[in-house]
Amino acid sequence: MNILVLGAGQLARMMSLAGAPLDLNVISYDVGSGQLLHPLTLHTVDQTLARAIADCDAITAEFEHIPDAVLSQCQASGKFYPGQEAIKVGGDRALEKALLERAGVPCASYQLITERAHLEQAIERLGLPLVIKTCQAGYDGKGQWRLRADSDVELIWAEMAAFLAADALHSIIAEPMIPFQREVSVIAVRDRAGNIAVYPVTENEHTNGVLTLSLARAVEDDIHQQAVDAVTRLAPALDYVGVLAIEFFDVDGQLLVNEIAPRVHNSGHWTQQGTLCSQFENHLRAVAGLPLGSTEAIGPSAMINVLGQAAIPAQVLSVANVTSHWYGKACRPGRKMGHINVVAGSEDLLGEKLLQLSALLPQEHYPGVARLGRELMQE
Ligand code: ATP
Ligand code: MG
Repeated sequence: MNILVLGAGQLARMMSLAGAPLDLNVISYDVGSGQLLHPLTLHTVDQTLARAIADCDAITAEFEHIPDAVLSQCQASGKFYPGQEAIKVGGDRALEKALLERAGVPCASYQLITERAHLEQAIERLGLPLVIKTCQAGYDGKGQWRLRADSDVELIWAEMAAFLAADALHSIIAEPMIPFQREVSVIAVRDRAGNIAVYPVTENEHTNGVLTLSLARAVEDDIHQQAVDAVTRLAPALDYVGVLAIEFFDVDGQLLVNEIAPRVHNSGHWTQQGTLCSQFENHLRAVAGLPLGSTEAIGPSAMINVLGQAAIPAQVLSVANVTSHWYGKACRPGRKMGHINVVAGSEDLLGEKLLQLSALLPQEHYPGVARLGRELMQE
């Protein structure tokens, strides 16, 4: 079967790697250049989008920021999963908030901002500090402002106004700064018949707004249940097919949705070695109309993001049950270049492996690895 993926980044690449054993061939549409590419070699394929749509068995996407015309063209084929609406909702924080409210899923309160007066209302209603986010443009913490004091309003508003003026379709939302104890996410998959399978909840650490570490281990039943509730409300509401990721803030044991991603997600990369059927394989199975695979964890797992590094130190491979995943992209500061997965038989052993890795991975580029290792060994 042929699967057309909108996007040609690492997520399409990992779908391609997961699909090969199932005889699922992934071809990428690079939205920026308008070219079809092989997701591993990045060699161009001499084909039009219309031809690729006609020839494939299913279409999916690896990111949300896709022109409407392309989404409509894919939707019209009847083969697009999770489909135009889900991708649009995932790519627009205002639509996302509206969906969460409609589905009755708790999320951070917010104020939509399209003019100066709305910012004043947000300050009055939500209080300071505020986290202010562009609705359509952000990723990896980009397109965000932190408003901490009244004295910063003018400066931040000037930047917001410039952003709003650049495109009539732009909007911004403000949220209170949520005093969370931790961030968690859930990765779920729904097949064409509506069956849902959910991976264990993942605990995530961000550094400067970018995911640096994920930890998948048994979490409290109540937390797991709240995550499952969110999935079972949101996925059917979007008539969703494929992998859906939901990021949450854990505030005193109550999960508030931060955002949803209508695709495979960085916080689910541990599933490549931590389960028998990774998020990439399960996503392809769902969109291709195949039975779903197991989402059960083999053991506690961790994922370490490789940000802005030219290579992954080869010595990490000397640690048992450690795998390295390279994306083959040009290196830029802070860019997601690859990741390292670790799976173990117990939390204690996972901690031990993380400590071994921390000796090979400079702390300034891989924050938190040593600390997490020590924490896991002490618990
Ligand atoms: P990504 O694409 O990497 O998920 P993003 O650019 O879509 O990131 P968010 O997930 O909304 O943006 O925010 C990035 C991070 O900023 C969050 O994971 C969290 O650490 C912090 N953050 C965002 N909103 C809030 C908030 N309201 N209160 C506190 N922290 C926040
Ligand atoms: Mg996020």
